[in-house]
Amino acid sequence: MARTFRNFINGEWVAPSTDAYFDNVNPADTGDLIGRFPDSSSKDVVAAVASAKRGFARWSRTPAPARGDVLRRVGELLEQRKDAIADAMTREMGKVLAEARGDVQEGIDTAFYAATEGRRLFGHVVPSELRSKWAMSYRRPIGVVGLITPFNFPLAIPTWKMFPALLCGNAVIIKPSEDVPHTVHLLVEILLEAGLPPEVVQLVHGRGETVGKALVDHPEVPVISFTGSTDTGALIGETCGRMHKRLSLEMGGKNAMIVMEDADLDLALEGVLWGAFGTTGQRCTATSRLIVHRKVHDRLVRRIAEAAEGLRLGDGRDGKSQVGPLIHEAARDKVERYVGIGQDAGAELVTGGERAGSRGKLGRGWFYRPTVFAGVTAGSRLEQEEIFGPVLSVIRVASYDEAVRVNNGVRYGLSSSIYTRDVDRAFRAMQDLDNGITYVNAPTIGAEAHLPFGGVKATGNGHREGGWEVYKFYSETKVCYVDFSGKLQRAQIDTYDV
Ligand code: NAD
Repeated sequence: MARTFRNFINGEWVAPSTDAYFDNVNPADTGDLIGRFPDSSSKDVVAAVASAKRGFARWSRTPAPARGDVLRRVGELLEQRKDAIADAMTREMGKVLAEARGDVQEGIDTAFYAATEGRRLFGHVVPSELRSKWAMSYRRPIGVVGLITPFNFPLAIPTWKMFPALLCGNAVIIKPSEDVPHTVHLLVEILLEAGLPPEVVQLVHGRGETVGKALVDHPEVPVISFTGSTDTGALIGETCGRMHKRLSLEMGGKNAMIVMEDADLDLALEGVLWGAFGTTGQRCTATSRLIVHRKVHDRLVRRIAEAAEGLRLGDGRDGKSQVGPLIHEAARDKVERYVGIGQDAGAELVTGGERAGSRGKLGRGWFYRPTVFAGVTAGSRLEQEEIFGPVLSVIRVASYDEAVRVNNGVRYGLSSSIYTRDVDRAFRAMQDLDNGITYVNAPTIGAEAHLPFGGVKATGNGHREGGWEVYKFYSETKVCYVDFSGKLQRAQIDTYDV
């Protein structure tokens, strides 16, 4: 009998007010029921906010280095349980175990980074215009922060948001993706075990249109951090704009790898396979377009097709698997729809384009063969729209300038990459490619925990996760002036007393 999970509200594990639950199943084997999770309502969100406000009152007064100590212990516990969490993650999300371990490692690195930030969290002390007066800024906590996360990085993305938010002294309410609720349940257990005061974290499971929306609509949640699709982000942005909320959006992508005629093709081949088919193409930074110089186009496409056909599909918990399933039936339907769109538009299906194993083990999950289209036209739907699956569209170009134009000709702007041995061209590309992240001689995936992460255009709204930048998002700058001259000194006047 599958376990029934609970929300974490008011410092305790509680059933949802609805008493309704949804099933969490393994995408590699839909007969494997992982558990039943709360299908909560806005009532649960209201209770979580009231509790988080109490948590905030206490936690915001805890010194930042002490907050950092809690996060260090969180990192240590994540390290101890890395394999168990990775296994649980693969079971509910499908990515192969090596990638799931990488996902947990990202959380560990984020915890240790946050722990040290507790001893920095720098403000500024700057000279005042006036005598015997100091002017300085410091960073203060904001309040209750609502976190809404997607399915594809079940641990890393929640930690990218949660750890900096906590380090800055906020209380958090997390609504994880309904596709991967178990991993965040394990994370919240660790936070509590590490000594986080209970009301500082609240976990409310449920659907986006109910729980996620209630969090966004709640007037006492002044900060929202969302990662997910651009359409959902746009809805959230409208509400947050109206309510004057601080909002971080990390959304869709249509990332391209450029391979120039002077590239190391062996390296590019390895890179594109990893970028396009790693995590079954379900990374926000997945290589979904390959822009290739015509001089090396045919050779490279042939080799990609051969290698893609050799990739082993299977349950991610089986050490031999290289590509896992898609997250659910709707995701596989979407891939199938786009394969049809590509064929209708006259693109050449080089390999894939079908479900894997209608009989046998693969038939029990949402598997789809790694798919490559050549002859894709810039501007076509296949080239422009996010598919979020194992589909690579190859666009042939005649020059560097054309490659840049194609890269930049989409509404998204998360990551890009260029393979070239020409150092001048590599540096030009770093300037010319209109993305938040550009890789040289590496695929479009591979963000590191201590660098800012995010995209431009319809991918983001100017904020970044990770690194030093995210701490600005989760804290408010306050400026203080101290006048110790013993007399009224007037600033903003047009003469200085020199
Ligand atoms: P999604 O937009 O369907 O869901 C994301 C989260 O939003 C889920 O928790 C969902 O329940 C919630 N949600 C849905 N409707 C909502 C609403 N009306 N109000 C509030 N919350 C709502 O995305 P997904 O399918 O889980 O993830 C895939 C998408 O995420 C892709 O577009 C991918 O590019 C994007 N993504 C982006 C990044 C990035 O950093 N740019 C990282 C990972 C994923």
